[in-house]
Amino acid sequence: MTLYRLISHLSLDAVRKLFCLFVLLWSVIPGFSQETEPCGTGSYIDFLESRNPGIRKHIDNQYHEAVKASKKHIHQHGKLEPLDTTYVINVVFHVVYKTEEQNVADEHIIDQVRILNEAYNRQNADTVNTRDIFKPVAGNARIEFKLANVDPLGNPTNGITRRQTVLNSFNASGTATLTDYVKRRATGGTDAWNTEKYLNIWVCNLNIGDMNALFGYAFPPTGADFWDNNSFRDANRQGVVLHYETVGTNNPAQLDPTNFTNEKTAIHEVGHFLGLRHTWGDSRFNGCGVDDFIDDTPNSRAASRGCPIGANTCPGDTFPDQVENYMDYGSAECSNMFTEQQVGVMRYNLVNLRPGLAQEVISYKPEPPANELIVISNPINDQLTLYWSETDNDVAILHLYNYLGQEVFTQVKRSGVHVITFDNIDLADGFYHAVVTSGFKTVLEQPVLKVTP
Ligand SMILES: [Zn+2]
Repeated sequence: MTLYRLISHLSLDAVRKLFCLFVLLWSVIPGFSQETEPCGTGSYIDFLESRNPGIRKHIDNQYHEAVKASKKHIHQHGKLEPLDTTYVINVVFHVVYKTEEQNVADEHIIDQVRILNEAYNRQNADTVNTRDIFKPVAGNARIEFKLANVDPLGNPTNGITRRQTVLNSFNASGTATLTDYVKRRATGGTDAWNTEKYLNIWVCNLNIGDMNALFGYAFPPTGADFWDNNSFRDANRQGVVLHYETVGTNNPAQLDPTNFTNEKTAIHEVGHFLGLRHTWGDSRFNGCGVDDFIDDTPNSRAASRGCPIGANTCPGDTFPDQVENYMDYGSAECSNMFTEQQVGVMRYNLVNLRPGLAQEVISYKPEPPANELIVISNPINDQLTLYWSETDNDVAILHLYNYLGQEVFTQVKRSGVHVITFDNIDLADGFYHAVVTSGFKTVLEQPVLKVTP
């Protein structure tokens, strides 16, 4: 019987089940798809749902709530909210190894923390590779990661634990990953440190045999109380798991950065841990109709591989695929940005759902002006034009204050050019105090006189 005739004899329900089986095979047996899976978070949520029916609904609800809050915040505060706080998260890396190669050295872990910090503060050198069309929506999460210096018992630590295991891999045929063996001492891994106080990152082998099968996965925020389940509490599963080959930039086990996500994997997985979804919408057989509900990540049909700059997989979309986004599957050399709305989601979730993690809050203090920046014409009418010697900041935000110190006008402009014009300044004639901020710094303060044109 040909496949077509076979299918034609089956009920719709049976066809549906066959299709689901195919999807399952494709997702859980790496050899079936013959492709390395950079991220297992989607499959992991399937697993969590199987253990705790209903948890997916909590994850979805929480996601939509965070997206809504992020959009509202940005709408109220302007395109780039001048965030005044940085959140600091204590991190512990648990290295669980069988071979010496898997026993990732401290220097690579320290390097990985540096990479996380650069990415979450938009200080990574490759922000210059963000295309101009996406620079106005690139976001700075202002989250810092710090290797813990005190363990849960109050003892000094370098924030790294090590344990040799007898297990060859934590992804044996896909099953060990799904049971989180690495997160539990009794199953060959290492127990979590209090997941409400520390971001736990387990580093282990996720290969199947010699084949790269999976690079990482994360436990997303659920917004729900922790469930008890068959083995151990969900609280002890919270965190991120990374394949040892991805950790740090100079890791001798590192893969080809033009093809693989490498050290950017941790940025991606922490993004999931703080509640982000993939930019293409998190469905394997998706298409342009499946969205991540984030407005500043353009629609894309499916995950990118490598760095297909210029690809626009959803024709009719004004913008090409945002392959630079950390939440796509672009290679290490390709990804370099989160968006404003993604940043809003992560910060919302951190404050509301993982509040114990943000152990310290650093109030942001504006730095004195450094660049040459002048108002070209003063008095002004309905426009204020600036000349700026530096052009590599992402945006400039103009604030005008009246003599009572009340902010009466604000406008955001891209600042990748020397001359920036703020327009439609509809205010009464008189003196105002102009303040221009960029990258959370005040770069200009000057009185201006508004007159009728
Ligand atoms: Zn992912």
